Order: sequence, then C-alpha cells, then structure tokens
Amino acid sequence: MAPDRQTADRLRDLLRGARRLVVFTGAGISTESGIPDFRSPGGLWTRNEPIEFGDFLASEEMRRENWRRKIEVDKTIRPAEPNRGHLAVAALVHRGLATTVITQNIDGLHQKSGVPDERVVELHGNGTYATCLDCGTRYELDAIEAAFEMDETPPTCAFCGGIVKQATISFGQAMPADAMRRAREAILDCDLFLAAGSSLVVYPAAGFPVMAKDNGSTLVILNREPTDLDAFADLVINDEIGPTLSAAVGLN
Ligand code: NAD
Ligand code: ZN
Repeated sequence: MAPDRQTADRLRDLLRGARRLVVFTGAGISTESGIPDFRSPGGLWTRNEPIEFGDFLASEEMRRENWRRKIEVDKTIRPAEPNRGHLAVAALVHRGLATTVITQNIDGLHQKSGVPDERVVELHGNGTYATCLDCGTRYELDAIEAAFEMDETPPTCAFCGGIVKQATISFGQAMPADAMRRAREAILDCDLFLAAGSSLVVYPAAGFPVMAKDNGSTLVILNREPTDLDAFADLVINDEIGPTLSAAVGLN
C-alpha cells in the first residue's frame, strides 16, 4: 500500500531542502528482502541464545556451533536481494545528497544495491565474508562453509593459524573504533538524519538520532511501529520503508 500523500510529500520536501543527509538503517530495511528483523517471534535470531565472543574464542565446540548456525542463517541471508528501500537509499547517495549510510545490518544489502563501500559504515560488521581474527586475512564464505560441512572442523587461517570468524561483531566483542569514528563524523556534519527500520533501543545506535538533533540536524524517524525517540523527531512516519522511501525519492 502506498503511504499517504501528505506524509510522502513532507519527507520529499525535507529531502529537497537538505544538503547533507545521513541515513541510519536497522533490520527493518531488510525485512522486505526476506530477512526477518530481530524481534520477529521464532525468527532467525531468536531460536538460540547468542554465542558470546569470549565463549567463541575459548571453545572449539562453541566455534563449531557458531558455524553450524551461520550456515543455517546464510540460507536466508545469502540469496537476499536489495529491495525498494535499499534502492531509494542508493539513489540518495548517487544524487550526492546522502553522504553516509550508517547501518546496524550485517547483510551487505546497501553495497549490493550500489552504495560504494566507502559510503557505508557497518556498526556490527558484515556477515557476507569471514576474517582471521589475528592477521585480518579475508575469507569468502563459499569455501569456508563447504570445508566446514565436510567434517565440521572450525576454520583456521591458512597463513597464521588464527581463528577465522564471520566479520560481524558478536555480543561481548568491542565495537569497531573506525566505524564509530566515521559514524560520529558524518552525524556531526549532517543537516538531515533519517533513521529507517530500527527500534532505536540498542546503543550506540540509539544515541545517534539524539546526537544529530543536538547538533542542529533535522530528524526523521521512519519505522513500522513507534520508537522511544519519536518525541525528538521533526517527522515520524509509521509505515513500510520500501513504498514510503521510494515514493519520497521519486522512484515510483
Ligand atoms: P530491530 O529488529 O530491533 O528493529 C527493527 C524495526 O524495524 C522494528 O521496530 C520493526 O517494527 C521495524 N520494521 C520491520 N520491517 C519494517 C518495514 N518493512 N518497514 C518499516 N519498519 C519495519 O532491529 P535493529 O534496531 O536493527 O536491531 C537488531 C540487531 O540485530 C542489529 O543490531 C543487527 O545487527 C542485527 N540484525 C541484523 C539484520 C540484518 O542484517 N538484516 C537482521 C536482524 C538483526
Ligand atoms: Zn591469519
């Protein structure tokens, strides 16, 4: 269903009036691509307790369990394609309006929709490849997962013997300092901040809209359901991201 005209028009006007936009996205922008968000009952992420980083490091059995789950989750994530929401965001980047896309997502769909790597800040890393925790060598999932499925030996680095892990940030793992710095710089430089598809409860992301607003930016929150930060926003749109954003950006 198309969003009501007035709402789309208000968002379009704010986008027209802005000079430097930061788009902040959460799991909600990828649900239309078939990847469930965090809260959906019985969803991908809620079936098991998450494996803490310390346990992953300490135990080969935990690493085995990690890769079993990763292969399961990848059956949903790897075939996923960008949807209208991602494409609208990509259009805003290509028009030179969006300087940065900050995302909590690990699905790589912003890059797949054509946003250049250097414009994407991944707060929770990227689940579409793996790296050696010691030397940083990148490993592609096809080879790693195929080898794992032969005898369930958790992967180690061919160069240094280090532990290989999907390139996401686990519970208990430090936030990536470079991503945090880039996010902060972009936010302090923007005049419009659009949060789309995040429940805005997980820190540090929950602090970003407030940081933008305190710095004088206009704040728009686009989410299917209300968030705790709605009171801070200049415009709140409780609607579906794909139809709303593509209408506001003029893609349909
Ligand atoms: P969240 O699940 O806490 O919140 C998602 C929000 O999006 C919800 O409020 C929901 O109502 C809304 N939503 C869902 N589909 C929508 C749609 N089509 N249109 C508008 N709103 C929609 O997500 P979060 O805040 O990103 O936190 C979840 C954490 O889990 C993140 O830290 C992320 O790393 C991880 N995660 C990632 C993915 C992914 O990469 N696609 C998916 C699930 C979870
Ligand atoms: Zn290594």
